[in-house]
Amino acid sequence: MADRVRVRFAPSPTGRLHIGGARTAIFNWAFARAMGGDFILRIEDTDPERSTKENVDVILNAMKWLGLNWDEGPEVGGEAGPYFQMQRMSTYTEALERLKERGAVYPCFCTKEELDAKRKAAEDAGQAYEGYDGTCRDMDPSEAARRIEAGEPHVWRLKVPHDHGPIMFNDAVYGPTSFPANVMDDMILVRTDGSPTYNFAVVCDDANMGITHVIRGDDHLSNTPRQILIYEALGYRTPTFAHLSMILGPDGKKLSKRHGATSVEEYRDRGFLPDAMVNFLALLGWSLDGETTIMSRDVICSQFSLDRITKKDAVFDETKLSWMNGQYIQKMGAAEWVELSKPWLARAHAEGYPYVHTAIVPSSDPNAPADDAEAEPLNDEQWAAFEDELAACPAFYEGLYPLVAERETSLAECESKLAYMFWGPCVLLDEKSVNKVLKKEGARADEAIAACREVLADEANSWEAAVLEEKCRALAEPLDMKLKNLLQPLRVAICGNMVSPPLFESIELMKREDVLARIDATVAQVF
Ligand code: GLU
Repeated sequence: MADRVRVRFAPSPTGRLHIGGARTAIFNWAFARAMGGDFILRIEDTDPERSTKENVDVILNAMKWLGLNWDEGPEVGGEAGPYFQMQRMSTYTEALERLKERGAVYPCFCTKEELDAKRKAAEDAGQAYEGYDGTCRDMDPSEAARRIEAGEPHVWRLKVPHDHGPIMFNDAVYGPTSFPANVMDDMILVRTDGSPTYNFAVVCDDANMGITHVIRGDDHLSNTPRQILIYEALGYRTPTFAHLSMILGPDGKKLSKRHGATSVEEYRDRGFLPDAMVNFLALLGWSLDGETTIMSRDVICSQFSLDRITKKDAVFDETKLSWMNGQYIQKMGAAEWVELSKPWLARAHAEGYPYVHTAIVPSSDPNAPADDAEAEPLNDEQWAAFEDELAACPAFYEGLYPLVAERETSLAECESKLAYMFWGPCVLLDEKSVNKVLKKEGARADEAIAACREVLADEANSWEAAVLEEKCRALAEPLDMKLKNLLQPLRVAICGNMVSPPLFESIELMKREDVLARIDATVAQVF
């Protein structure tokens, strides 16, 4: 029977979960799920400066936000733990002992100065430095033992067999891959201070944790032959390797800060949904059938396979991600939308509330993304006021969803797009809209507004979008006015802008007295 599949995601906590790391995590998670195996999270925290508790939490929170539940790892534990490398030091010591017994390592007493001098000499002679020259490799064991005994600083190096042929492995993505062994120098496994090097620790962990498949970025491809040599020296079976291609920005260059947001947290804060992120990232280098773009977690987790991973570089196209996010927003339904949009709705609420005057304001781009990095966080009082209102009138908030559901590409957009819904009896009149619509020569905007106001003020008309719209539209004929000239002024008078979500659906969600007050305030301001 084939081994139970065990895969791991092994981030070094450096501050944020980057898009590339998240993609690696998703591929491992989906593969484990598809194979009925285990997904392990291991924290590679050997860099004490960067591996703070805070940085670890950032990774765990991003994983949780994405919904990538791990079967073993921090917080959940597991039989192969601990899952922090710093807590596994004794396992590296044991592995070193095993290598000593097998005669696969030797102590090296060469100092940094000696090694630097050799490197420099090679460079000065115009030759490429070929790595460690094996000075200590054949030292008499009794001399080595004596020098260790005397406390002389030393590292432990792998004794790469001189007769080793090419190091070959069948990468699940790149196919048969081969590296010449004779260019591998005797790499350091354990440093002078007793700490393991990256390659040594990773091999020990993967072996001790029973990892069957190592799925990781191809920046690790050149480490793989070295790691295979370590597996062989330990006498352990090598896992299957699958190296994932690079992620490029739309300009064909490696994805970096230059391209904008590069971490999962940034996308979360910009109103992207975890489902959309997982769907989008799963398709960076993998495909279900080459066509399907929208896929639930269930589909990804049941259908994921290594043989559909491409070695072509993947392109990160944020326009596609936005589109996909929009698709998920359209499907999610009002209650969930309100729940997930709270950070931005609370902001719109807090920003709307203090307006007590109607005014004409300079035009801004209503589609500009909310810049949360610069926005002041809401204080407790503002949050409490929002939560109270949400609890008191959930129908209002759920009613906002259809106003934007079809058009939003990120949850954050509701903050600016629905700002007008929170102005109570006031309006912030967009200057351009005032000039183009309300002050338009010969368009009789004042007459149009007055006529519509009568419809809205008439208590005999029930306060429903369809009824109010029909009655207002019916005014076009007696007034001998184009529909556009009739309704656009009303839109500006109430929503402040000539581009807004559906007008009458918005009106239905407002209080009649507020709508009338807005109209009156606009008229007083403009005409
Ligand atoms: N900790 C390594 C990194 O963050 C990953 C090691 C591995 O996957 O082998 O790049």
